[in-house]
Amino acid sequence: MALGALAATLTLVSTGMPAASAEEQPSTFARTVYYSASGYSAEADQSAQIWNSAAPNVRMVRGGNATIRISATTGGGSRAYPCGLGCATIYIDRNDVAAGHYALRIVAHEIGHGLGLPDNYNGVCSYLMSGGSAGTSCRNPNPNAAEANRVNQLFAGGATSTEASGVTETDVYAKG
Ligand SMILES: [Zn+2]
Repeated sequence: MALGALAATLTLVSTGMPAASAEEQPSTFARTVYYSASGYSAEADQSAQIWNSAAPNVRMVRGGNATIRISATTGGGSRAYPCGLGCATIYIDRNDVAAGHYALRIVAHEIGHGLGLPDNYNGVCSYLMSGGSAGTSCRNPNPNAAEANRVNQLFAGGATSTEASGVTETDVYAKG
């Protein structure tokens, strides 16, 4: 039977390949955070990968009942409205990108708020949470070790999305 042969082939294929590569395996304590992106979609996916690698206790997955929701807007500034740990409504302002700010860094930064990090406008590019204070020449989309460890700590032990992250203020990426 053709179907039987197909099923056998699929079985062989599926068993002949690793279920998931090592880097895709969540840690024991990883908590899944679903996200959606109606704008800056590629940047959202890249940012999710960045955070998944930096903070193994977080596993950002696109789809599901998304609690981190990313969309594009024009005007008002790139910003995040955190709603608890692993929860935020995020707007990426096309004007920020047009002004030269690196879109991937903006998206990763705003997701950082959704993962519990506050702003740190110290102007230092190695900090993801320095946001627009590091200037448009800064194209670093990665959290530094301290930022990554903080998020990993917040998500350790399977914290739930209803737990307050401590980040409640509206954020604007590029102030002034
Ligand atoms: Zn911010």
